[in-house]
Amino acid sequence: GRSWHLASRPHGTPVPENFALREVPVRAPGEGEVLVRNTHLSVDPYMRGRMNDQKSYVPPFALDEPMDGGAVGEVVASEAEGLAPGDLVLHGLGWRDYATLPARRTAPVPRDTPRPSAYLGVLGMPGFTAWVGLREIGGIKEGDAVLVSGAAGAVGSTAGQLARLMGASRVVGSAGSAEKVDLLTGEYGFDAAFNYRDAPVREQLPKAAPDGIDLYFDNVGGDHLEAALTAMNLHGRIVLCGMIAQYNATEPPPGPRNLALMVGKRVRAQGMIVGDHEASRPEFLAQVTAWVESGELRYRETVLKGLENTPEALLGVLRGDNTGKMIVEL
Ligand code: NDP
Repeated sequence: GRSWHLASRPHGTPVPENFALREVPVRAPGEGEVLVRNTHLSVDPYMRGRMNDQKSYVPPFALDEPMDGGAVGEVVASEAEGLAPGDLVLHGLGWRDYATLPARRTAPVPRDTPRPSAYLGVLGMPGFTAWVGLREIGGIKEGDAVLVSGAAGAVGSTAGQLARLMGASRVVGSAGSAEKVDLLTGEYGFDAAFNYRDAPVREQLPKAAPDGIDLYFDNVGGDHLEAALTAMNLHGRIVLCGMIAQYNATEPPPGPRNLALMVGKRVRAQGMIVGDHEASRPEFLAQVTAWVESGELRYRETVLKGLENTPEALLGVLRGDNTGKMIVEL
């Protein structure tokens, strides 16, 4: 088998030399374990943070050790009750072609699913993040005007559409290209959207949200967060989901200069980590699977083929090459 290893830690934007693809032995499953042939790998923005040697909510990748991350694959050998060759599973040993792991550290993926990769995207961690963020962190209610940044990405495209399905009166999105903006206001049904590269967010947002914002789902931080604070209505809420605008920064960026607005507007902002919400996953999966199957919730994936393209896929996510979830198909 082969597995990507962290060869060196990046300073700023990662480069291909930070990653090394190495031969690794494929271990036969022991008692209670399965051997999985990975078919789809996930690359996610949080992996950039794991390339740094810093304490966080998830431990850093170790130098010269195999990297890991979300993956879907097919069981090829099983020493575990309840799993047989041909079964599909979701698990955490990505960045490699074969994985041996305890069956209890896998989650089932329906064997006949037409969309196995969706369990890494709209039906997986990013979709769950959008659902949890709106419901359990943002406390979305009927009539809210909602702003989503990173709105053409995996989390953002789901968050914007879910906001509408959960009762938002107006949904506004921002993304980094004209094609993405068209997708938001077209297929995804956002009421308004803008390309943050065209002009400063603080100039574009008031036109897209003339009556202000009640709930901001923040994937980006930086100038988006500052502009959102200015646009926020009384008792507004902010879901601090991610701050991708600063993941490659080499110095801590300045905070929003208008933070004082939160006082008078009684704004509540709360960070979130999706892994804290496992108990809600069955409810999420049932509701969102139904919306995907009925066509009320749409999704896109950007697929790169071949294990050798995994680092390129991660660099692509950080650059905005993806529309919807970035997937590596093996
Ligand atoms: P996406 O699919 O949204 O991919 C990342 C996108 O970010 C790119 O496509 C790009 O789109 C955009 N982007 C990159 N750089 C910038 C920038 N400087 N300013 C604005 N946009 C930028 O990734 P995910 O959906 O997986 O993740 C979205 C966010 O959610 C991230 O911040 C991530 O860290 C966070 N997250 C948080 C979780 C949690 O538990 N808190 C769980 C999962 C994700 P564009 O072309 O529009 O620039």
